[in-house]
This record gives sequence, C-alpha cells and structure tokens, in this order.
Amino acid sequence: MSLIVVGTMAFDALETPFGKADRVIGGSATYVAWSASNFTQPIKQVSIIGGDFPQEELDKLGKRGVEFDGVEVVKDGKSFFWSGRYHLDMNTRDTLVTELNVLEQFNPQLPESYQNCEFLMLGNLAPAVQISVINQLKNRPKLIVMDTMNFWMEVAMDDLKKALGMVDVLMVNDSEARQLSGEYSLVKAAVKIQEMGPKYVIIKKGEHGALLFNGKRVFFAPALPLEDVFDPTGAGDTFAGGFIGHLAQTGDISFDNMKNAIIVGSAMASFCVEKFGTTRMQELTKEEINDRIQQFVELVNFEISLV
Ligand code: AMP
Repeated sequence: MSLIVVGTMAFDALETPFGKADRVIGGSATYVAWSASNFTQPIKQVSIIGGDFPQEELDKLGKRGVEFDGVEVVKDGKSFFWSGRYHLDMNTRDTLVTELNVLEQFNPQLPESYQNCEFLMLGNLAPAVQISVINQLKNRPKLIVMDTMNFWMEVAMDDLKKALGMVDVLMVNDSEARQLSGEYSLVKAAVKIQEMGPKYVIIKKGEHGALLFNGKRVFFAPALPLEDVFDPTGAGDTFAGGFIGHLAQTGDISFDNMKNAIIVGSAMASFCVEKFGTTRMQELTKEEINDRIQQFVELVNFEISLV
C-alpha cells in the first residue's frame, strides 16, 4: 500500500566515542525512506532541500522507489544541518547545532499524485508542516504515524499539541515522553499522551527496547544486544521506517500486527547503528533483514510450565 513520508533531508555532523563525521547525509525522511523501502514502494517523499544536496543521493533513493515530486529544491538555499555528540553510553546525545536553513521557509504543496495514500509517516519536522500535510489530503489515510523531538516541544508546543490531536500513533523516546507529559512514569506518560490524541503511543528506550501502548494494552520489543554500536543517529527514524513499512506492506493496522511492526522497526534500527550515517542501510539485503527478525523471535521466545 502507498506511503507518504514527511521529514528532513539533511547534512549531519556526528561525533561518537568511535569517531567523527563532518558532513554525512542524514535527515529524518532520509532514514525513514531507506528503511521503509525494504517493505513497501513507492514512497512519496515530502521534504525540502537546498541546491547543495547531492543528486547522487537522490538517485540512490530513487532506485529504491522513492518519489520526489513532493520535495522542494531551493537552488540557492542550504539544506537543513544538524550536529550532535553522543555520550559514552550512546543512549544520550547533545545537539550541538540545528540550522533550519531552507526548512525555515518550508510550506509544502502536496502534488496530486500523493492523494489517496493509505499510510502517512510524519517524520520529525516542524509540527506546522506536519499539520499542513494532513490538511492537504482529501481523504484521511488509514493510519497516520507521527514522530517528534524535544526541539519542537521547546519551540512549537502549541502546534505540536494541535498535530497530536490529528494522528493515530505517536513515536517518541523516553525523555521526550516525560517532557511532553510531565510524568516520570512511562505508563502514566503514555496515558496522558493518549489523552492528547494518538490512541497508540510508542516509547523508544534506545538499547533498552521500545514499548507500545494502546489503552490498557502494552507490548515490549527488546533491542538486539549488539557488540558494537558505532553511530545511533537515525536509529529512531529507521525504527519508524520499519514500523510503518511493515504495516503498509501488510495493510493490517491491528494491535497484533503493530506488535510485529515494532519488532521489524527494532530489527531495522539494529542495522542502522552498525555504521556511520545511512551506510549500513544502503547495503542491506532482504536475507539479512529476515535473519535478524528471526534473531528477535529467538531473543524473546521461551516456554514455561507454571505449577
Ligand atoms: P534520530 O537519531 O532518529 O533521532 O534522527 C536523527 C536525524 O534527525 C538526523 O539525521 C538529523 O538530520 C535529523 N534531525 C535532527 N534534529 C531535527 C529536527 N529538529 N527536526 C527534524 N529532523 C531533525
């Protein structure tokens, strides 16, 4: 089934305990597209880039069924730039620089070819842009999933609350869930966030896995214990791409299928962190993905006889 992906396409500068990369391709929509295209195509991308964004990167994504009719190119503008430094635990990071650049003027115009999509992934981006995309769709998609981050809570909370009232699933990490809800307990945070709109809340906990909440139902997906994590950048977006990619591939948005989808998301994220930037995502094979999903099945599979 068809999928629209909204988000940034960016340059990132990264520092991890394992090394530094000054200017690699990143952005929320870039990672979502690389990940989701393993499960569903075409992917209708909505973003904005400057004339500095390499054509070669667009071509590589194009070969993966990513369409760019909804990507605005500002020839004399600069692409979004983000820089981050990871702490030794690799679960926490500091944002060093966020340069919105062309994003500051982004007012997406959805092409006609993007209408009637069943799945909408609102990757991390200004909530006003996320709202504008929903409003331009003549028919509401079957499922709208939204990601966001603390940056938007700090600079655009009112818009963010409006956006929350329009979506089905919210994906955030644990600290963002706490910041958004004002609750330390993630169970209480999930309840409060559901009251803001999304009936499904996914809380990501980095190397400690992810929780899916819906009413009184909870499901937990672990993260694969990895020997080495080189660069966690994009892991959240890659998770989102696997999650929505699986749902779009199967067309099934039941809670039971969302459980499978967060396992698929976790498996995809486990690849992303193995190399810098999108490198690992670009070389992945179907066989590797299936093997890794099987590893997840084995990781959580046990039998017990209760006496
Ligand atoms: P993640 O590690 O999954 O949170 O995503 C990292 C990616 O998000 C990087 O490639 C950045 O370019 C992008 N990013 C960082 N800050 C923002 C922001 N405020 N809005 C949208 N995308 C961002």
